[in-house]
Amino acid sequence: MTAEHGPTDAFHFDVAAVGGGIAGLAAAITAAGEGASAVLLEKAPRAERGGNTRFADAQVRFPHDADQYCDRAYTPEEFRRDLIRISGGRASPDLVDALVGRAAETVDWLTALGVEWESGYPHTAGYRRTPVAGGQGLVDLLFRRAEGIGVAVSYETPARELLVDGGRIAGLRAVSPEGPVEVRSPAVVLASGGFQASREMRAAHLGPTAEEVVLRGSRHDTGDGIAIALAVGARPAGQWDGYHAAVIDARSLPVECGVTALYNFQMGIIVDAQGQRFLDEGEDFRDHTYVKFARAIIERAGGKAFCIFDQQAYSRPEFQRGWRPVGPPLMSDTIEGLAGALGLPPRSLAETVRRFNTAVQPGELDFDRLDGKSTRGASPPKSNWALPVEAPPFVALPVTGGITFTFGGLKVDREARVIHESGKPIPGLFAAGELMGELFYDNYPGATSVIRGAVFGRIAGRNAARMRQRP
Ligand SMILES: Cc1cc2nc3c(=O)[nH]c(=O)nc-3n(C[C@H](O)[C@H](O)[C@H](O)COP(=O)(O)OP(=O)(O)OC[C@H]3O[C@@H](n4cnc5c(N)ncnc54)[C@H](O)[C@@H]3O)c2cc1C
Repeated sequence: MTAEHGPTDAFHFDVAAVGGGIAGLAAAITAAGEGASAVLLEKAPRAERGGNTRFADAQVRFPHDADQYCDRAYTPEEFRRDLIRISGGRASPDLVDALVGRAAETVDWLTALGVEWESGYPHTAGYRRTPVAGGQGLVDLLFRRAEGIGVAVSYETPARELLVDGGRIAGLRAVSPEGPVEVRSPAVVLASGGFQASREMRAAHLGPTAEEVVLRGSRHDTGDGIAIALAVGARPAGQWDGYHAAVIDARSLPVECGVTALYNFQMGIIVDAQGQRFLDEGEDFRDHTYVKFARAIIERAGGKAFCIFDQQAYSRPEFQRGWRPVGPPLMSDTIEGLAGALGLPPRSLAETVRRFNTAVQPGELDFDRLDGKSTRGASPPKSNWALPVEAPPFVALPVTGGITFTFGGLKVDREARVIHESGKPIPGLFAAGELMGELFYDNYPGATSVIRGAVFGRIAGRNAARMRQRP
């Protein structure tokens, strides 16, 4: 690194990574590992570094054989099929290929850096693991590794503008606590997250129902990287009105609430503020439904719903691992009493439960597979795991949908190059993580965003380091 001091200080690096979540950290560590001088600019102060990644459990989905974490194998074909199916066939085949093809080696890379793993949540068909120390531990470890191999880290330094010279990236302008700075670098990796933390952008792109939603992760992900790339002619891509959300405890903090999600709603029923069911709780594994259910709660139920269980569900040992409420659930020996505690019309809720229970068909209950134990005559149906709500005391949690990240972003190819409106890559500009478009549409297969950030961050870091030779 060299520095020039003047009204605007200028620093010279081979690679500038923008954003200190999984994607930016993976990019900076990889670039430095390739011998490049690298700087990582983080908008947040040190105490708030790590973006959405630090709020996450950071579970990762990747192809693997059966092992000590998962008792069944998950094949690359299954991973590819899940990504394509859950996006309604719209995910970019190129990005899917790169993600599926590189996910396992990227988990090995994280392991080699020191990440320790444990099993993921129950009832996830065996395809995931979790870092023992969660997202916070993952971020802290990667910052230590980055600094250990010489990556310069600058906190409270938001990137504001890209520098372009003769059609090639020449660096960026940022604002540091000491004033404006220029980083002159032949390559920039944008890894600054989606636009979920910008209320204005939520209202403009996601519609009015998303304006007031609970923000689960970082307040700093306000779409900056997307905006500065669009300003130099990058092509927008992906589903700009789509977003990831989770079914969370309605009592969560409005901003940066972290993991307060319910991942066991499929073990009971979900009702709206009128006490009516409005979706098929057992449509698919909950890892493949929680995002669309959260959006249904936001968009169709006015942001207010209630998960209701009986003791057959609540007393199961794995129930507690799939739920992280911020306070105790509400309980009652009668459905009418529960309705009273939740502020729901008692007669309506009692009738919903009665009709549901009558519709439940016999069959073997098995939460680890799509067991086909369903309802007949209920509307909407419950297609799997239909268990009557009959064993008191009944348990309920008020829930809402909390936004996690947005699906729309930049057109990026499998080499993490940002594509210009002309259809050609912008030389020297790379992007990784949430701000990439074209992987997720309408829904999301659980545990794929941290691994996406790591996979494309590494690809971006390696290719950015190579820009020193100006290919
Ligand atoms: C509660 C919660 C639970 C989750 N659980 C999981 C899970 O188990 N598995 C999974 O796969 N995904 C999970 N996710 C989603 C996943 O964590 C994120 O999508 C992923 O980690 C995003 O990584 P990223 O590097 O793209 O962005 P981030 O981690 O958000 O990092 C972006 C960084 O860019 C910085 N930044 C923003 N603007 C600028 C700027 N102008 N200049 C410099 N820096 C800037 C931000 O401060 C931030 O540090 C969860 C998310 C949350 C909130």
